Amino acid sequence: TIGMVVIDKNNHIVAGTSTNGANHKIPGRVGDSPIPGAGAYAENNVGGASGTGDGDVMMRFLPSFLTVEEMRRGSTPTEAALTAIKRVAAHYPNFFGAVIAVNVNGEYGAACNGMDEFHFSVFKTNQSDVKVQSVLCN
Ligand code: ASP
Repeated sequence: TIGMVVIDKNNHIVAGTSTNGANHKIPGRVGDSPIPGAGAYAENNVGGASGTGDGDVMMRFLPSFLTVEEMRRGSTPTEAALTAIKRVAAHYPNFFGAVIAVNVNGEYGAACNGMDEFHFSVFKTNQSDVKVQSVLCN
């Protein structure tokens, strides 16, 4: 999955995904990426989130929606993403996946499970370059 959360100059927040799906997928498989709340979710004045990984498992928990809701309730992006990852891991401890999150202030974070480390890219208009960041997993 390529997942993205963007805040424009008017503070509109959007999230989007593209995906090549899963290995050995059956014809017609949809997966999590195009499902709002699963693959991605955003709300103005709160933030946005996007997920990647075992979509057939993750989509059952709407991790992107949960992440945005946690930010609405006051969590930092990192805390919010971790809450969503832990929700999935409570049922599927070995699942492979990650969630990225950005809040309305441009603060960001990520959480992951089933791998050692997860890398993601950040660009802010006052930066000259994209910065690659990483988090250690759950
Ligand atoms: N989540 C995607 C899917 O299951 C796969 C991915 O993240 O690469 O369709």
